[in-house]
Amino acid sequence: MGEPVSGVDDVSALRGADATIARMLEEELTRQSTTINLIAAANYLSPAVRSAMHPALESVHCEGYPGRRYHQGQTVSDAIERLAVDRACRLFGSEHANVQPYRGTMANLAAAMAVLEPGDPVLGLQTAAGGHYSTGGPLHLIGRMFRVVPYGLRPDTARLDYDLIRAVARRERPRAIFCGDTSYPQLWDFGALRDVADEVGAVLIADISQSAGLIAGGAIPSPARHVDIMTAATYKTLRGPRAGLILCTAELADRVDRAVYPICQGGTNVRILSGIAAALGEALTESFRVYTGQVVENSRCLADNLMLWGFDLVTDGTENHACLADVRPLGVTGDVAAQWLASAGILSNGNQIPNDPGGPRRPSGLRFGTAAVTTLGMDGPVIAEVAGLVSQVLRNGGRQNAVEEQVRARAAEIRYGYHAWNDAWRGIDVEELV
Ligand SMILES: *Cc1c(COP(=O)(O)O)cnc(C)c1O
Repeated sequence: MGEPVSGVDDVSALRGADATIARMLEEELTRQSTTINLIAAANYLSPAVRSAMHPALESVHCEGYPGRRYHQGQTVSDAIERLAVDRACRLFGSEHANVQPYRGTMANLAAAMAVLEPGDPVLGLQTAAGGHYSTGGPLHLIGRMFRVVPYGLRPDTARLDYDLIRAVARRERPRAIFCGDTSYPQLWDFGALRDVADEVGAVLIADISQSAGLIAGGAIPSPARHVDIMTAATYKTLRGPRAGLILCTAELADRVDRAVYPICQGGTNVRILSGIAAALGEALTESFRVYTGQVVENSRCLADNLMLWGFDLVTDGTENHACLADVRPLGVTGDVAAQWLASAGILSNGNQIPNDPGGPRRPSGLRFGTAAVTTLGMDGPVIAEVAGLVSQVLRNGGRQNAVEEQVRARAAEIRYGYHAWNDAWRGIDVEELV
């Protein structure tokens, strides 16, 4: 046995022990370094965040909260979790943070468990309108335990309509209202929802999973002063490990903490907590603020260029990191269009559009986001070129021909130009880290 491996990307260390997995990892690293990732939820971790997630921390058995753990040896895990909590509160201007949720959906479940009783009515954005399945549909445990009443968008504009939401709230008298989305390309009016929540006496919960980084970096307005609870995935625009967090008022702190552990979850993962603390530290820097501004600028640039190429975009554009193209005019469904693009080295996902006639299995939309490519350093001119490549592939109709081959080669070339896997990081000025 050699030294503990600090570089988590060092595949060569694995080759002797398990060549099969080593080969799989090499294939994966090659895939990542030769494709342009426009998946809206995707991002890349900085070397600092990866290093903070030191493999030795997997050996720490940790349950409970700092100062109230159930096992010995927690001096450092207490300090790491306190640091993550403190940074989360500073970053989002919140009174309390819980950084233990395993993922975004678990953060939502815990938030619901903190404020609702089984059977209680709760409002959430319809999944077809861009709501996440954990807050707007019947599939998730939230939909099974509570009476989720979905609200939709205005059919003519595909935009949120706060009078409609108010009408649903007056009728249903929900105990909680979920807001936030997974694929709504416009900003929310959280103040208007606060009024609705106050009128019916509901707790207001914003699921900011997609936009947490943009909010932290100031690229879009924060719901913090309007809502009681915010839930988030930490790995999307926030650029941390695959986990979740909850932010709330001091008043709700104990209920939220108890809901996360022991009601919804067991022990916590200190390796992840360390990565979250590091990511939140980066998110407090000026470089991160610049990054999030660039994410939105790139998103607008991508949307504008797709429209120039003749694509129909839901709401005719975007105000955040993502946009949604209606691919019905091409005579293809979004899932198939996403496969065509993937064959040509460009990653996206098939996604429902408002009032989608196809349903979740045959969605009519394609979703694109710019969080990952912006982390790599891409900006306007190259984003415009990528939009052109997308257009070429979709007009090529999925044929395996010279067009597809050319785009795949160009996509790999572009990707190489923006640093292959694990190359020097240029998103964050290390001097600034606190
Ligand atoms: C990504 C996402 C989640 C979290 O999903 P997990 O897979 O559980 O991490 C929750 N809500 C929204 C709106 C999301 O976009």
